[in-house]
Amino acid sequence: MGMARTGSEGIAHLTAKEASARMDALRQEIERNTYLYYALDAPEISDAAYDSLMRDLRALEEAYPELAAPDSPTKRVGGTVEKQFSAIEHASRMYSLDNAMDEAELMEWMEGMEKLYGHLPELCCELKIDGSSIAITYQDGQLVQAATRGDGTTGEDVTANVLRVRDVPRTLHAAALGSVADPDAPLELRGEIYMPRSSFEALNLEAQAEGKKQFANPRNAAAGSLRQKDPSITASRDLATFIYSVSSNAALHVRGQWELLEWLRSAGFHVNPDVALCSTKEEVIQFCAASLEKRESLPYEIDGVVVKVNEFALQDAAGFTSRAPKWAIAFKFPPEEKTTILHDITVQVGRTGALTPVAELEPVRIAGSVVARATLHNEDEVHRKDVRVGDTVIVRKAGDVIPEVLGPVVTLRPDDALPWVAPTTCPSCGSPVIREEGEAQIRCVSIDCPAQALERLLHWVSRGAMDIDGMGEEIVSRLVEMGRLSDVADFYSLTVEELERLQMGRFNKEGDPITLGHTTAVKLVEAIQGSKERDFARVICGLGIRHIGKSTAEDLVEAYPSMEAMRQASEEELQAVYGIGERVAASIWAFLRTPDNVDVIERLERAGVAMAAVRPEGEGVPRTLEGLTFVLTGTLTGLRLSREEAADALKAYGAKVSSSVSKKTSYVVAGENPGSKYDKAVELGVPVLDEDQLRAVMDTGVPPVI
Ligand code: AMP
Repeated sequence: MGMARTGSEGIAHLTAKEASARMDALRQEIERNTYLYYALDAPEISDAAYDSLMRDLRALEEAYPELAAPDSPTKRVGGTVEKQFSAIEHASRMYSLDNAMDEAELMEWMEGMEKLYGHLPELCCELKIDGSSIAITYQDGQLVQAATRGDGTTGEDVTANVLRVRDVPRTLHAAALGSVADPDAPLELRGEIYMPRSSFEALNLEAQAEGKKQFANPRNAAAGSLRQKDPSITASRDLATFIYSVSSNAALHVRGQWELLEWLRSAGFHVNPDVALCSTKEEVIQFCAASLEKRESLPYEIDGVVVKVNEFALQDAAGFTSRAPKWAIAFKFPPEEKTTILHDITVQVGRTGALTPVAELEPVRIAGSVVARATLHNEDEVHRKDVRVGDTVIVRKAGDVIPEVLGPVVTLRPDDALPWVAPTTCPSCGSPVIREEGEAQIRCVSIDCPAQALERLLHWVSRGAMDIDGMGEEIVSRLVEMGRLSDVADFYSLTVEELERLQMGRFNKEGDPITLGHTTAVKLVEAIQGSKERDFARVICGLGIRHIGKSTAEDLVEAYPSMEAMRQASEEELQAVYGIGERVAASIWAFLRTPDNVDVIERLERAGVAMAAVRPEGEGVPRTLEGLTFVLTGTLTGLRLSREEAADALKAYGAKVSSSVSKKTSYVVAGENPGSKYDKAVELGVPVLDEDQLRAVMDTGVPPVI
């Protein structure tokens, strides 16, 4: 399908080496975001951006098949299994879907199907429900198990939670059982679990009132509610399902998707009524257009239309790619645009002092969420778009994408609307602001700026950094106002006694001030104390050093695994670390030498916060492999080890394990079915180890002699 259209630009100019490096970088970024999305329900980038990374990688793999990694994320469905739920293997793989981003791509796919079968097959069109996939298994007509999609092969056991979703039948209607091919076999049915919009909004209002974290959209709310450790919480959330598929076409005596939907209805499932069986391309396009039209008025979110070849025999003939059926396509709706009023442009002070203009909008519902604010990035951007307070502006959003102000509708501009003028002083502390040469951002450089201090504190407790559960903005702000928190080390001296009495600035019906209370205070102190054990990379990230995000912090810690080592590194040495450039090195070096920062770090250390990377099995292990770099490829079948486990064992001896082969690689370990890394090793003359040789290295820590 239209992969080449978006992904292939510029590929022709790449050398094989550049392509290989870019593919490695893309793979890493995709893996990281897959984990954030599926395991943590906390996406950092939009779905569209994620899809685009995936398309780029796929296009490169198509252009350079010899460089494609056998374990590439393009060959997998996203998702991992969290440890707290037990794993369930699906009866057959739960696939993802390929996307058509516009009508032309949808047409292209339908033409492909026409060519494949020699005629256009009947196509079953359904709404693409924007929820979370679920697989529900019945044995002898009784619900026995429910699982999330996970990585497609193995999902998480969420049976106890799904049993509390009202529209999921516990027992299949007896009349429907006659169509089950093998009455003794388990029957796995699949669909989407979702949260209606109104329930999502009510849930967020409640969370807001209680000062808790709100969900970004109904999909995250559904996924989060489904994966609760306590099923009574799932029960309290208004979840619903639409079921639309079966794990195997042979499991039921039905001939196609349309009949399957009918059977599902007769068995007692909730099946979406908006479906169409089309015999021409025009009818399909028409269904997509009508669904888009209807989107806003539906009580739940949809993000497109799924078009499936109706007949099972034809589906079976088309088969699957490694991640998706060839006989189905998801037509994705285009980003939504709405107009609304720009009430004000406020200025936000970030933790590094950057001043960001923010559009304060008349709240408007776009692509699944209510948008009331949108970043305008910087001064130049405001002037380039020439948006003015009072303007009617066009706002665009697609799915999870951060909303964007496209520009004003100039004809609707009030006569008195004036161009925006950037502030000359910090809105928080009043200090004069500066704009450095070559920088787009205006900056407050005062060390005593309260807005920066608050942002630094919030960054420390955030999920990507020290992840202190329950320590939200409201509590942190109160503690700052009380003078009890001024830097991140202060968190560690907070006590249950003072927290339980903390007044939240609100009053109950009797007019008494609401305090945090004992239970919450105990939980908070536990969470704070628990954070002392966090990875050193999280500590580095949490300190909020300019230009240092999570992945740079990880690179840094890999090279300098303790605060002591990092402090002793010169600016040049820091620059030599993979992933760290001049600007970043200068920023770290200066940070670690600023007296205020040194003081905070020392107090954190005294409080017991880990200031060195723990090497789980490496403690006391001689670092005999220091300076050597290993690359692992293929499956370590003989050793019955995952590559991660083998990598950890090598790292414990001080080795580096990298994902790509270069001249600097010391050894490539080739398991079964090694990929292109093996060929690359041969090409570059890098020694290749087999599993036995790897075993010897892991057992002895002695570098192999080839
Ligand atoms: P994606 O994971 O974004 O590539 O899209 C595939 C997912 O769409 C599937 O795993 C389903 O969870 C979801 N989906 C929603 N509605 C449907 C539908 N009517 N038919 C098939 N899949 C659907």
